[in-house]
Amino acid sequence: MEKPYVLGIDMGGTNTVFGIVDARGTILHSGSIKTGIYPDINDYIDALGKGIEVLLKEIGGSDKIKGIGVGAPNGNYFNGCIEFASNLPWKNRIPLAQLICERLNIPVTLTNDANAAAIGEMTYGVARGMKDFIMITLGTGVGSGIVVGGNLVYGHDGFAGELGHTIIRRHNGRLCGCGREGCLETYTSATGVARTAREYLEIRKDSSLLRQLDPDTITSKDVYDAAIKGDKLAIEIFDFTGAILGEAFADFIAFSSPEAIVLFGGLTKAGDLIMKPIQEAMEKNVLKVFAGKTKLLFSQLKEADAAILGASALGWEAKEVLFE
Ligand SMILES: [Zn+2]
Repeated sequence: MEKPYVLGIDMGGTNTVFGIVDARGTILHSGSIKTGIYPDINDYIDALGKGIEVLLKEIGGSDKIKGIGVGAPNGNYFNGCIEFASNLPWKNRIPLAQLICERLNIPVTLTNDANAAAIGEMTYGVARGMKDFIMITLGTGVGSGIVVGGNLVYGHDGFAGELGHTIIRRHNGRLCGCGREGCLETYTSATGVARTAREYLEIRKDSSLLRQLDPDTITSKDVYDAAIKGDKLAIEIFDFTGAILGEAFADFIAFSSPEAIVLFGGLTKAGDLIMKPIQEAMEKNVLKVFAGKTKLLFSQLKEADAAILGASALGWEAKEVLFE
């Protein structure tokens, strides 16, 4: 009998969410555990296993699951390991796919979270039927998944597609978590937007609703709330952010000529406030041969579901693999 379901696991620094998904992208059952509270990886795997077994009972056992897909920070598709993940409690190299596979006896495929989002979009979302697109996730950081000819680009080492760390300011750029300066992520992530707000409030003298807030705790959501009330300074922060994204996208288009760039994450809630400046800057800066050819789309997957769906989509391609 064809196995009708897959299981998706999205590991974040704070929470790990998981769910059983059918071929149409409906989440049938889901659960979550805390990620950061297990100093020993084996205790984490055990808690995860127990949580998943509860869901498996609901559907009549693990025989119904074709495979497990895992999205994890710095997850390496080639060897199923997490490597150099700074926001997780475990040091060094964790063979996560192997540990989950051994615990549950179901084939496991693993990749990083932005790649999982791209596969989710291709399987269930706005990129269905597309063979060439770039997924950009705008969250605490800026992640990317590049699809060329229907395949995710992993590169020779499994880590390809770090567009958030392309340098867009060569001089006096902002310091990035990666240790370099001027990365796209430092300007256009949610934290980047908050950073811009602090800079604007310091340098400029004009009035703004944002001046009522403690600059140190301003978030991108505060900027959004002010912008939809018509606050000029907040709107300009989105113009600035969108322009940087659009300029960067013009370059990304030159690399792989995508049919679409798909945006996902908290910042996309800003809608036209961010989309219009992106579109304008992209069109102004793109090479003529590509002009008007690349669509700019927002993910239509519900944010709460997208993490599980994205990871689960990998489960359809999970094979019995031997781990090194
Ligand atoms: Zn960086």
